[in-house]
Amino acid sequence: MSTFPDLHLLIAGEQVSGGGRKTEDVINPATGEVLTQLPHATSEDLDRALDAAEQGFREWRTTSADKRASILTKAAGLIKKRAGDIAQSLTREQGKPLGEAKGETMYAAMLLEFYAGECKRLYGRTLVRPEGSRVEIQYHPVGPVAGFAPWNFPTLNVMRKIGGALAAGCSTIVKPSEETPASGIAIVQALLDAGVPGNVVQCVFGVPSDVSEHLLASPVIRKLTFTGSTAVGKQLAKLAADDLKICTMELGGHGPVLVFNDSDVDQALDTMVSNKYRNAGQVCVSPTRFLIEQDVFEKFRDGFVERAEKVKVGNGLEHGTQMGPMANSRGLDNMEKLIGNAKDKGAKLLTGGDRIGNQGFFHAPTVLSEVPTDADIMNNEPFGPVAILNPMSGEDAMIEEANRLPYGLAAYAWTADPARRRRLAAEVEAGMLAINTGGVSAVDAPFGGVKWSGYGSEDGREGVMACMVPKAIHEG
Ligand code: NAD
Repeated sequence: MSTFPDLHLLIAGEQVSGGGRKTEDVINPATGEVLTQLPHATSEDLDRALDAAEQGFREWRTTSADKRASILTKAAGLIKKRAGDIAQSLTREQGKPLGEAKGETMYAAMLLEFYAGECKRLYGRTLVRPEGSRVEIQYHPVGPVAGFAPWNFPTLNVMRKIGGALAAGCSTIVKPSEETPASGIAIVQALLDAGVPGNVVQCVFGVPSDVSEHLLASPVIRKLTFTGSTAVGKQLAKLAADDLKICTMELGGHGPVLVFNDSDVDQALDTMVSNKYRNAGQVCVSPTRFLIEQDVFEKFRDGFVERAEKVKVGNGLEHGTQMGPMANSRGLDNMEKLIGNAKDKGAKLLTGGDRIGNQGFFHAPTVLSEVPTDADIMNNEPFGPVAILNPMSGEDAMIEEANRLPYGLAAYAWTADPARRRRLAAEVEAGMLAINTGGVSAVDAPFGGVKWSGYGSEDGREGVMACMVPKAIHEG
């Protein structure tokens, strides 16, 4: 097996580690073994990164769009070329199967390619008044951006934090998750190797709240972008508000799936079961509450359980594994509490329900049915390999249940009725709605939520515009 990469901070283009800095263990969730040590940034390191980002912004904002586009395209090519190696360390530090790790990394490269193209499409507009005056509307990069990325998609989330900002002309400081640092470092290193200046893209680690408080206290940072739980998102938005920094918040969800009597049940099952257990359910857009119309409930329930029981769980490095371990022991504890509480409230456990073995953080693919609304799992994001299957009667009740929670990230629906599709598009409160498909993400479409799932978009043109501010030039 290849050796695990050395870990370091990337500040002003330098690899920084050692020097008595505090470190923390990076754990392989499939075995529980310590892979290596991750250095934490000191407060001086963070100040140096802030100074560099300020300087880097001055340079990068005036770098031509053509040059920015060509550097970002080159970086995307490097990431694709390195995807096999990056996937090896991603799987070892995060757990997901190697194929998913490589696919995620290729997708991160494709997103960067899309953003590179957007560099050349950052148009303004001109209002020409009949009496001869004009207003020219320009868009300028907002300034240095601080990005905080979680551990569930260790390469893609880092790209989402920095790709749009770099295309817009911003400098960036990203803190990947301390639990999955090698993947984030690999993305930033590819950007550096392709020619992004060292003061334009930097990477730091530490105690998350210390790093975010330090960076957000600085007037240098003009924008915050965070992916993670709603609770932490709210705290960070408050910190950002002290200096009126712009925010993009990509937070939790509780994906409803509306399965109607007129749907193609087999197609829905083939799509949604693998979607549910992808990345062991640790996906912000994971389908969670299946709301199934009465006539197809039994067929859907039985087909779901049959498929869930066939999911091959194992070490993500092993050929044939379809679901790896959970990424950390917190995930297992959360599953145990939520499933226990659901059973106490009267839910039926149809399969799974427990961790697997004592080594690593494996949990069985789990299906609950007839879960009452007051069970915790019907209200809090499980972020794990568990599906809730509840029978429902009628479209209105299903939409009402879909919209009941304060979350609004991804929602799914299966129906053959075109008029119903239009009604769902209008009524379901979500940033993304998938109808007769399991996909809610595309590099050229905005990705983000409403209500407690956050605000601002990543991906698509919106992901770049979220890092720009308008300026209106009025000419007489
Ligand atoms: P968490 O909210 O504590 O951490 C999520 C991420 O945010 C981690 O990577 C962590 O390093 C970072 N973080 C935490 N506090 C921070 C701070 N003060 N400043 C900057 N970064 C900070 O939750 P967790 O235990 O790691 O994950 C569990 C929950 O988080 C899930 O139930 C889910 O709701 C949410 N989550 C969501 C996503 C997503 O894609 N939206 C990803 C990961 C976790």
